[in-house]
Amino acid sequence: MEVSWNELNESIRACRLCPLAEGILNKVPGQGNANARLMLIGEGPGAEEDRQGLAFVGAAGQLLTRMLAAIGIKREEVFIANAVKCRPPGNRVPKSEETAACLPYLRAQAALIRPQVILLLGATALRAVLGQEKRITQCRGQWIVSKGVFILPTWHPAALLRDPSKKRDAWQDMRALRDKLAELPLKQAT
Ligand code: SF4
Repeated sequence: MEVSWNELNESIRACRLCPLAEGILNKVPGQGNANARLMLIGEGPGAEEDRQGLAFVGAAGQLLTRMLAAIGIKREEVFIANAVKCRPPGNRVPKSEETAACLPYLRAQAALIRPQVILLLGATALRAVLGQEKRITQCRGQWIVSKGVFILPTWHPAALLRDPSKKRDAWQDMRALRDKLAELPLKQAT
């Protein structure tokens, strides 16, 4: 049976399934359009996200907003979440057991949203969703279709801030994303 948004958000708020729950200021479940055509999945909350309880509100989030705007998508049209809902200490990469513990929440969110397209931002999101053996350097820019959902792995915006040479790939992926959304029929409102 599908859980409701309220039940899901309450479960995330109360969750202590992995050690990441210790020392955080806020859970960061993710936010956006609950009937979005496009779901974006990142790695985990950073300091600003932890403070505000919102995903992708720091520098990487601002870059992501500009990237979406460049292909005509507003932030409020999409749903944005992370592979883990709690900030890893010192912004370290979440461990595979932590992303595994948190994955049911992400799956439940996707089941409620029923996105047509999922953009996986970076290696952690890719491995959490598609398997620990996956490599972002090999999968980036390659469409994967799973249960009728089109999934595109791309660089995390934080990687673009660290290494601007990756922006060329990212722009290619954003154009592919725009074209995919244009070719798919519009979702029926629920
Ligand atoms: S990261 Fe996810 S699984 Fe771990 S405590 Fe936070 S909500 Fe629970």
